[in-house]
Amino acid sequence: MNEKEIVALTDENIMNTYKRFPIVLTRGLGAKVWDVNGKEYLDFAAGIAVCNLGHSQPKVIEAVKEQLVKLTHVSNLYYTEPQTQLAKLLVDHSFADKVFFCNSGAEANEAAIKLARKYAHENMGPDKFELITMKDSFHGRTMATITATGQEKFQFGFTPLLEGFTYVPFNDLRALEAAISAKTCGIMLEPIQGEGGVNIPDENYLVSVREICDRHGILLIIDEVQTGMGRTGKLFAYEHSGIKPDIMTLAKALANGLPVGAMLATDRIAKAFVPGNHASTFGGNPLTMAAASAVVETILNEGILENCRSIGDYFLSQLRELQQKHPIIQEVKGKGLMLAAKLDMETGDIVNECMKRGLLVISAGSKTLRFVPPLIITTHDVDCAIKVLDEAMEGK
Ligand SMILES: *Cc1c(COP(=O)(O)O)cnc(C)c1O
Repeated sequence: MNEKEIVALTDENIMNTYKRFPIVLTRGLGAKVWDVNGKEYLDFAAGIAVCNLGHSQPKVIEAVKEQLVKLTHVSNLYYTEPQTQLAKLLVDHSFADKVFFCNSGAEANEAAIKLARKYAHENMGPDKFELITMKDSFHGRTMATITATGQEKFQFGFTPLLEGFTYVPFNDLRALEAAISAKTCGIMLEPIQGEGGVNIPDENYLVSVREICDRHGILLIIDEVQTGMGRTGKLFAYEHSGIKPDIMTLAKALANGLPVGAMLATDRIAKAFVPGNHASTFGGNPLTMAAASAVVETILNEGILENCRSIGDYFLSQLRELQQKHPIIQEVKGKGLMLAAKLDMETGDIVNECMKRGLLVISAGSKTLRFVPPLIITTHDVDCAIKVLDEAMEGK
């Protein structure tokens, strides 16, 4: 099928939940993708912060190929080694003692909300079920996770929402303290808000949130679905702050493009789940587990974090220079390779101009350009992207 046919047939047969760009992608390698007409793009979207190791990563391909011909799925009625291996890797390299596997970020957060409620029910009493989440947060599209998401645009039309959620502004410790009530069982937040605009926590904000949780004996749930797996220059973004959460969720980059999610917790909290409490048919299937183990090992052993930090710093400095030239850029922000440029206008035009010139970038909210390239990019890739951005912003 050609581009026109694919676009027409897609729009005819697939529900209208996405506003897609009118290109059809067929192939990817490293930080590049190609469309059906053979046009090449530098991919600074990486499937929305998913392909952290780049497209067609050899170690991931090898792991998937090897597992695919052995065993793809048997359910969680039985033990499988790939699941054991990934769980051990994640436990060894995080605060957590236990993992639950699922298939997406929303599912991981759904599992976290259930675990928090179950733990609270058993250890704090049945009246403590409320979670405090942040305005401008994003936690997924299921009923519980749109309720947790502190943005009305994701909730509109889907009421009644779930009971037991309340919202405070990110970076506002006073509002957070004030929101804690006799019903509160935990606080849930992203260490850097992704979809909400790449909002960075103030110095010591997360330390203070941890202190508040400890003082009130409530749980700290960190959503690392976007920030995890090296995106910010550490394996997990909470590591920058020196604190440890009680529960953490992962998905997006965990298997570099295969659908997998994980919810991790300390032993004390994880004990609240017993057989029958939660489950997923596909969760932890050998194929995605093998891919994810290859991802974690590659991130840890092949200088990915170091590259993310140094290229991230370089990219940030180049974006600051671009800001000097283009007054439409109000603010440049981010950490590692989770970077953004807040504009004084809607991003649509710039995103389209970049795409025409062979650069894929995405937005976070309506006025923030978001850059979440593969963590393997080079300074040359950054220079190419900056050149395209410079051209796309000319005369704006
Ligand atoms: C993308 C995202 C989610 C939702 O993940 P899905 O896999 O789309 O369900 C949840 N939380 C954060 C922080 C995200 O960026």
